[in-house]
Amino acid sequence: METQIFINLKEKSEALDKADKLKNFRSQFLFPKHNGKNVLYFTGNSLGLQPIHTKEYILQELKDWEQYGVEGHFHAKHPWFSYHEFLTEKMAKIIGAMPEEVIMMNQLTSNLHFLMVSFYRPYQRKRKILCEFPAFPSDIYALQSQIKFHGGNPDIDLIMIKSEKDDYIIDDEKIISAIHQYKDDLALVFIGGVNYLSGQVFDIPKITKAANNADVICGWDLAHAAGNIELKLHDWNIDFAVWCSYKYLNSGPGSVGGAFVHQKHLQNFDLPLFAGWWGTNKEERFKMKAVFEPMPTAERWQVSNAPVLSMAACLASLDIFDEATMPALIQKSKQLTAFLEEMIIQINNLFNKEVFRIITPKTRGAQLSVICNVSQPKKLFDELIQHGIIVDWREPHVIRFAPVPLYNSFEDIYLLGEELKNIVPKFL
Ligand SMILES: *Cc1c(COP(=O)(O)O)cnc(C)c1O
Repeated sequence: METQIFINLKEKSEALDKADKLKNFRSQFLFPKHNGKNVLYFTGNSLGLQPIHTKEYILQELKDWEQYGVEGHFHAKHPWFSYHEFLTEKMAKIIGAMPEEVIMMNQLTSNLHFLMVSFYRPYQRKRKILCEFPAFPSDIYALQSQIKFHGGNPDIDLIMIKSEKDDYIIDDEKIISAIHQYKDDLALVFIGGVNYLSGQVFDIPKITKAANNADVICGWDLAHAAGNIELKLHDWNIDFAVWCSYKYLNSGPGSVGGAFVHQKHLQNFDLPLFAGWWGTNKEERFKMKAVFEPMPTAERWQVSNAPVLSMAACLASLDIFDEATMPALIQKSKQLTAFLEEMIIQINNLFNKEVFRIITPKTRGAQLSVICNVSQPKKLFDELIQHGIIVDWREPHVIRFAPVPLYNSFEDIYLLGEELKNIVPKFL
């Protein structure tokens, strides 16, 4: 019986890999090695793997720097003056935005601060911010510090909506009813579109609509959503969003972040912002005038000239997304995650125990988070790492598995199952 189960998984993984139209993309990525073999990599939600062409993209800029020096701003193959523009349309396609609504700049948390300057405008009673709990710590620090910056008290003005249970899952309706409850006091709703810990995908359009109907701005952290799930930021009418490019977007550690500002706000030149020279009318930029001429696009929020080397890495990856396309990636992602779920259930059945309790709900992207129900869960995690299985640990007992459609195969999941079959009994 035991082997029968896994023979079925093996056969199924082979059939699924054979039918996978995206399978050739795997060879465009570099896998870390463990004892001379590729690791089983399931942490693309934390740091995406390096595309093989990234080096060439960066080398191109180093060569142009060598050859042109400062002239590279206009004479490089991809002129640095407008380098960020090479990313805009490709990024816009991934998140369902109009190009003018998107700007790749800075990094995630910095972008959140810059956009909150424009979109967190407490006045009179309306001062509170509503977010989910647990939200990513950096987001919480940003929200708390913005409240303090405006003279508020985070203990009073930051409302965190918690799960009813021990599984970190928050009903969308709970958030919506909290918006109704606090609407006279709320200035901003800001939530992670895909919760980093549980992998839950929130109903972004529905929550946004509820906030907007209550006359509250709604922003989203899409760190775990961009390049992972279907997004239609423009059609969903969301006010603003920020994300990073080093998770599902494979642009390398600390690479350039992204920001979205809905078209409906772009003509509002009264919005306050922290300005810099990369946000002024580009025709006039090098005339070094003392007057800021705000651009009518999300580029207005750009303060500094673009970090070309990290943008080159971002471009290398966005070119892959352009070729693979989000709809195809999402289709494979659903199959991969379903297969991972099936494998985990079989492991549980094998040991007659819910060794791994899946907390991620069905509204999910390429991630399953499990509560690890063994006496020493951290030791189990350590043992996985020692076997070249790269997964991610969150205290006190959560393991996150992210099978990424660009480079994970169904066989990876089958092999993970084989390893778990051997490792789990040591911890029962
Ligand atoms: C990864 C992540 C961050 C990281 O922020 P940086 O500014 O890129 O360091 C912030 N928020 C969320 C929700 C994340 O998942």
